[in-house]
Amino acid sequence: MKYIDNENFKGKKVLVRVDYNVPLNDLFEVTDVTRIERTKKTVSKIVNDGGIAILMSHLGRPKGEANEKFSLEHIIKRSSEVLGKNVIFLGDVLNDDVEKKVNALKPGDVGLLENLRFHKGEEKGDVEFAKAIARLGDVYVNDAFGTAHREHASTATIVKFFPSQSYAGYLLYEEVTNLEKVLSNAKSPFTAIIGGSKVSTKLNIILNLLDRVDSLIIAGGMSYTFLHSLGVKIGNSIFEPDMVDMAKEIVSKAHLKGVDLYFPIDNICADKFSEDANTYITTQNHIPDGWEGVDIGPRTIQKFARIIKDSETILWNGPVGVFEIDKFGFGTQSMALCVAVTTMSGAFSLIGGGDSIAAVSKYGLSNFISYISTGGGAMLEYLEGIELPGIKALNDVE
Ligand code: AMP
Repeated sequence: MKYIDNENFKGKKVLVRVDYNVPLNDLFEVTDVTRIERTKKTVSKIVNDGGIAILMSHLGRPKGEANEKFSLEHIIKRSSEVLGKNVIFLGDVLNDDVEKKVNALKPGDVGLLENLRFHKGEEKGDVEFAKAIARLGDVYVNDAFGTAHREHASTATIVKFFPSQSYAGYLLYEEVTNLEKVLSNAKSPFTAIIGGSKVSTKLNIILNLLDRVDSLIIAGGMSYTFLHSLGVKIGNSIFEPDMVDMAKEIVSKAHLKGVDLYFPIDNICADKFSEDANTYITTQNHIPDGWEGVDIGPRTIQKFARIIKDSETILWNGPVGVFEIDKFGFGTQSMALCVAVTTMSGAFSLIGGGDSIAAVSKYGLSNFISYISTGGGAMLEYLEGIELPGIKALNDVE
């Protein structure tokens, strides 16, 4: 995979696939600019080299048809502010006048094309559509890690038209490099903490990690399916009956592979999911009917803290309790603190997944984590061990 850091783009028209699928409010104002901010380094590099950055993205799900609601024109003002450059709207990639607009751009300019998903060819990965985009640039850069799991015209097919001029942007490169630090180059002891609500959504990640980690902590809602499979009473806790056999299989696989597998040993139970719920701490794991496990208990915190503290590499995905409700957030807060403190002592930590990011941010600990992956679905697939089409396309060319 070629990396833009090693290149100079002076005088080049650089087509940059970004992921500006940002949230908009009813007035079509951008409510979170993180995705734009994260591409700033790539855009600045091209501009500072004296190149022309032609940005392209999708926004929402217009399903292959032009729809004003999903126009990227809505984000011109905010992206100009965030990128510190006047972003010029170039209109639709298939418009008659688009080439004229692109040719009017001068070195150092930044343009933005209309939502690529206004055309069915984008999501189909259509070669003709990719060719139409490609005609506008000399070079292709992919900086849309969040869309790298899609085999679309602008994320994968387009590379065909730039066989020796396709590069990974800073964001994409950093995401891949940091994910590889845990998946392929992890320093031992390597501990993964997998939480969240359901086993089914994390199953492939757990299976992939079993070949890589020394210790695996399974907590949060999904731990109750495992505990049930081990004969523990789980009361009304969240439970996936279809996953019981798989949970048993994971326990035996972990054993065979020499992975130390840890579950909660006590729980905070509640009689409902709200701030005014009655709660109590179980002395052992058993939870009586009418109560559900909503957080890990103090003995579990102590046990998990020891494992985390002794780790050199830590991967965390998914909260260990219903942290959105403050009363049930102490376990997640404690895990965040342990990961942060261990990182400060020299370990490498990677946190990913919307809820885990929200948790470390809620507790003011984001700056004490080595890397926070904002790749969403793409990151989850990467952790499952899938080669993402956007990355494969860049790797397949020299
Ligand atoms: P996920 O998207 O799978 O990572 O799940 C995140 C969600 O899991 C968060 O909204 C948490 O509130 C929820 N969660 C964590 N622990 C529990 C639990 N014990 N019972 C129910 N939901 C939980």
